[in-house]
Amino acid sequence: MCGIIGYIGEKNAVPVIIDGLKKLEYRGYDSAGIAINIGNELKIEKKQGRIINLEKSLDNDLYANVGIGHTRWATHGEPSEINAHPHYNIDKSIAVIHNGIIENYTELKKWLEGEGIKFISETDTEVVAHLVSYYYNGDLVKAVTESLKRLRGAYALGVVAKDEPDKIVAVRKDSPLVIGLGKEENFIASDVPAILKHTKNVLYLDNDDMAILTKNEVKIFNGNGDRVERDIETIEWDMEAAEKGGYPHFTIKEINEQPEGIQKVIDRRINDDGKIVLDGINLSKDDIEKISRIYIVACGTSYHAGLVGKYVIEKFAKLPVQVEIGSEFRYKDPLIDDKTLIITVSQSGETLDTLQSLRIAKEQGARIMSIVNVVGSSIARESDDVFYTWAGPEIGVASTKAFTTQMLTFYLIALFMADKLEVIEKEKYDSIIKEIKKIPNDIQTILDNYKDIQKIADEQFNNEKIFFIGRGLDVEISYEASLKLKEISYINSQAIAAGELKHGTIALIEEGTLVVAIATQDKLYEKMLSNIKEVKARKGSILSIAKEGNNEINDISDYRLSIPNTIDILTPLLSIVPMQLFAYYVSVARGNDVDMPRNLAKSVTVE
Ligand code: GLU
Repeated sequence: MCGIIGYIGEKNAVPVIIDGLKKLEYRGYDSAGIAINIGNELKIEKKQGRIINLEKSLDNDLYANVGIGHTRWATHGEPSEINAHPHYNIDKSIAVIHNGIIENYTELKKWLEGEGIKFISETDTEVVAHLVSYYYNGDLVKAVTESLKRLRGAYALGVVAKDEPDKIVAVRKDSPLVIGLGKEENFIASDVPAILKHTKNVLYLDNDDMAILTKNEVKIFNGNGDRVERDIETIEWDMEAAEKGGYPHFTIKEINEQPEGIQKVIDRRINDDGKIVLDGINLSKDDIEKISRIYIVACGTSYHAGLVGKYVIEKFAKLPVQVEIGSEFRYKDPLIDDKTLIITVSQSGETLDTLQSLRIAKEQGARIMSIVNVVGSSIARESDDVFYTWAGPEIGVASTKAFTTQMLTFYLIALFMADKLEVIEKEKYDSIIKEIKKIPNDIQTILDNYKDIQKIADEQFNNEKIFFIGRGLDVEISYEASLKLKEISYINSQAIAAGELKHGTIALIEEGTLVVAIATQDKLYEKMLSNIKEVKARKGSILSIAKEGNNEINDISDYRLSIPNTIDILTPLLSIVPMQLFAYYVSVARGNDVDMPRNLAKSVTVE
């Protein structure tokens, strides 16, 4: 959500900022803008729509050594040129970019208007520009410090002043911000890809930190105003990992990276004896025995991984688990004490509702574990233990490879706990590990058959509605399959437990309505066949997904896809893959912007 970049150094800031904004496009945005210090003036340009519109509007000879740029994802005020960032004060001597929401902006706006200030946009952000200007007396750091005392909400801010071309002031509270350290140049950014071309050395600000960047130095002050040092980290992956590598879209590249991603987790987490290693995560038998209740807290796709997580932890480790949506959990006074284990799940590690839930639970004494993809993200840093999914940068807004690695992580946690608690027989444990090791190959087999799926998508892309049904673990995958389709195809889609269909939703089935039936659970296979027949009786069309060799389903299916044979409990790792491919090819057939679907953002940093 929103992209921030700032540059100060020897180079021309303009191409650095424009290129950086392009690398942040995946986060989702509706307008873009830039403010650069050209000596006697802050040159501010903004445009609605794509970055290319902004780029085209800039003079070729524009030059500055310091500047800030922003891609906006509107929260307050429609997407428009005037609401785009940077925002500025009356005489355009101060410019601000912002990610997040200023919660008390109405009150501040009223007060500033009382002081004679005229607002021109509908955004919450504009108050920050006027507030800093109100306190400005030749010292930007002081003015920002004073302003912060009056701001409530979540923000990452980048601020520049016309009269201080030697600095950028950046602040972070509950919104991501990374500082890039270069030679005679420094950067601020919402995420690493924006600056990776220039430096691999980064530091992550803590909440309430303020950073003052000059060309040669970055000074950091904590919320109390004390000078502090933050660890410098070196980014391990390179630009290639964040580029398309010959694929037409990031989404399909990332779907295809799943065998490798899963293999990486297996290699790092399962040793040669088949034992699960948790690397630095302390989870002794005593620790696990102490747990009386587990909450998995997450949003969106990560929530669906959590549903599978609940299933496998309860099945293997026999511990009670509740799965909660972040935005609900944080406001519902959950029962938490020091015997509670919270597992938060987030690809970006910045999902605000999940992060706030984590903080609430931590205050009440819970132990916090998290499953996160982005190293150094807020959720990772504020957790007691972190399971990184190591899926590499996920750029496509619709999460794919992060999802499968999140699920795999849950299997490993569940098996680890079960083993420690001695509630799983050795043979069973060994056989599951053996099957897990086959998953990368099995996913590859599904990927190799992409043409079958593409063909179905090409025939079915014009549907107005599509339903997904399943039983047992297939319900959880139906939810995720339906979300994936919605996100990138914009087709109205709903997932429902197959047995529940006749309790209402079947009223929506008409001649030709496509129902995707996921039927991979041996125990429930026959029940699924009956549910499919109920749909057929209403003249619905069926796309079924079943294990190889289960062929009775063919006669009642209009289309049939297979997944390689594996034990029932592991099928989610496979059955989601054809569903990701289906969503992808439907989206392509509809001519949609697959990687950046409308209205969506990759890292959801607002409530
Ligand atoms: N709340 C601000 C706005 O609507 C910032 C949104 C963003 O994070 O892009 O302008």
